[in-house]
Amino acid sequence: MEPGWIEIDLQAITHNLKEIKRIIGKEIKTMPVVKADAYGHGLVPVSQTLVQAGADFLAVSYVEEGIKLRSAGLNVPIVVLLGVLKSEIEAIFSYKLTPVVYRLEVAQALSKAAQRYKEILPVFVKIDTGMGRLGVFYKEAANFLKALSLLPGLKIEGVTSHLALAETDKEFTQIQIQRFKTVLKSAQTLGLELKFNHIANSAASLEYKDSYFQAVRPGLSVYGIYPLPSLKKEVALQPVMSFKTRVIYLKWLPARAGVSYGHTFITPRPTKVAVIPIGYDQGLFRQLSNKGEVLIKGKRAPIIGTICMHLTMIDVTSIDGIDIGEEVVILGRQGEEEITADEIAQKAGTISYDVLCRFGRSNPRVYLRDT
Ligand SMILES: *Cc1c(COP(=O)(O)O)cnc(C)c1O
Repeated sequence: MEPGWIEIDLQAITHNLKEIKRIIGKEIKTMPVVKADAYGHGLVPVSQTLVQAGADFLAVSYVEEGIKLRSAGLNVPIVVLLGVLKSEIEAIFSYKLTPVVYRLEVAQALSKAAQRYKEILPVFVKIDTGMGRLGVFYKEAANFLKALSLLPGLKIEGVTSHLALAETDKEFTQIQIQRFKTVLKSAQTLGLELKFNHIANSAASLEYKDSYFQAVRPGLSVYGIYPLPSLKKEVALQPVMSFKTRVIYLKWLPARAGVSYGHTFITPRPTKVAVIPIGYDQGLFRQLSNKGEVLIKGKRAPIIGTICMHLTMIDVTSIDGIDIGEEVVILGRQGEEEITADEIAQKAGTISYDVLCRFGRSNPRVYLRDT
């Protein structure tokens, strides 16, 4: 039995990147973020689609993800956002990856290796302008850049930073952008020619023109999710992922019958129950028990009772004409109705990123190339 499957609409990926490009303009390069298996959508097919649609760079978290992309034949620059450990330096050169650096020790080791290979290694310098995560604290950026500029074999392509509050706080976002600009000035004073500087994630790419610099790093928006609901007026994004399954059993229960573990749902009236063969093992958040909805025959139907490991019950009393094998949409569209990643995230007490990654990694994927 195939429990459930994820449909990935690759045309929507192309559409979304074009839409982002329309907003940022021709001069700005794009570096779509394809970490976490392209947010659960599939690293290689999504990356191939993005490159065909004109992505200038790709960004991943780990060296291993970069190796997978190179092995699949992709040859755009691949930026490793988390940086590298000394033990990974050989792979950086073998697979021509572009690391982000923020530790002098690693930069020195990269420089030595570059000299050994007689190569010039492009790197990005990661600055912490207020995320408090990876990167050289912005006040120490000038010293770090100076030390780095003295290392032979390295070419600083640009500086990069990450916004902590792009979705929620204009004022602090502006402070981060200002700090970033100050870092760029000190780089200029050092005589560094930085070609591609970038700080913007999806929210900033669509909202703050002064966050563009020479490149942007959109993730969520590439997958068709709005970082801010207010952007719906200006940008037309298309969701890429759907999550579907089929009804495997139908039956009527009388009034006052308990449903599933713990009897957290008691039928208030005679109830027609549809059973689907997926549960929290397929990523269906257990928090959606008695809370979530699915689409059957283009209508919303509530999840009743506790979600089990591989089974979930749906109240379909008011929906006629359902057969065994009827398609059920957990995420996505059916007819006029739609269940979005944001709706699921809200009900499950998490964020859309988590919904996409979890559904994507827990289920087999089907790629739709034409519509
Ligand atoms: C994940 C990530 C992004 C993309 O962020 P979105 O909010 O998905 O657009 C950009 N930059 C860095 C450093 C990231 O880790």
